[in-house]
Amino acid sequence: MKYAIDLGHNISLDGGAVGIKRENDLIMAVGENVIYRLRKAGHQVAECKPTWASSVNDSLRRRVNTANESRADVAISIHFNAFNRHAHGTEVYAISSRGKSIAQKVVNEISSLGFANRGVKSRGFYFLRYTSMPAILIEGCFCDSQRDMNLFNADKMAEAIVKGLLQ
Ligand SMILES: [Zn+2]
Repeated sequence: MKYAIDLGHNISLDGGAVGIKRENDLIMAVGENVIYRLRKAGHQVAECKPTWASSVNDSLRRRVNTANESRADVAISIHFNAFNRHAHGTEVYAISSRGKSIAQKVVNEISSLGFANRGVKSRGFYFLRYTSMPAILIEGCFCDSQRDMNLFNADKMAEAIVKGLLQ
């Protein structure tokens, strides 16, 4: 299998949320680990995060273009949520039916680590709308929730994501 993995934000002009921890840091810690695990399991990975972009829209466009040009079987964008410091848990977004079935497995695996299962949600994120393969957008947990940050372990979350993807 070939996976297109997008490590969200993490370039200038496309910064992530800042809570108790920075979304950018959590994405890198989990995302690099996911890529390592997929390759170790014998899968191909196309990395979608650009090194530069002129705007947030340009950043999103470049990520999607890389995913589409890679002709990957599945595209995954990794993010972390922030809201009001009280909201907590994991949720995974998808719009296609195949995407939703992958999203369900991933959200269940992440919630098995102790995070509240907020389920599979459907929202027209650019990454989901314009990728040409089944795609999911993971909101691992809330970076502004003390509960989630106490529970957070990058290695365990990466393991859970890969377990969900490979089911
Ligand atoms: Zn984000």
